[in-house]
Amino acid sequence: DERTLVLVKPDGVQRGLIGEVVSRIERKGLRLVSLELKTVDRSLAEQHYAEHEGKGFYEELLSFITSAPVAAMVVEGPRAVAAFRQIAGGTDPVEKAVPGSIRGDLALETGSNIVHGSDSPESAEREIKLWFG
Ligand code: ATP
Repeated sequence: DERTLVLVKPDGVQRGLIGEVVSRIERKGLRLVSLELKTVDRSLAEQHYAEHEGKGFYEELLSFITSAPVAAMVVEGPRAVAAFRQIAGGTDPVEKAVPGSIRGDLALETGSNIVHGSDSPESAEREIKLWFG
């Protein structure tokens, strides 16, 4: 089975949505293998979001992810990467995420869209190493 890294970002943690996200992951049939609340320092944030360096929203992204604790988890199952991205919904919670998805049901803004999920099995490998060693 495949593994993916899921983060409940600071907005989701502050709104008390960790349980909601975990519940949707479990209802989909995916398994939780690790779960840890983490305070994110600048270095971890930069490595996590390396592909976005130079973009207009990069600094905003770093200050947001380092602003409050994040719930990091390793999630496992058949096609876990794509399966989690399906239940998360598109990046823009209004224009892209469909109702029934985490973002479609629970978020309004792209900058605070509750969750992160790895975008490929290769990214997942890299991100799981980065977050869980
Ligand atoms: P994630 O990688 O977090 O699962 P994603 O793959 O749907 O999300 P990316 O394009 O990788 O989206 O962007 C990473 C994160 O950066 C998004 O989840 C979002 O919070 C933020 N982001 C992306 N585009 C913008 C934007 N135009 N303005 C503000 N924030 C943005």
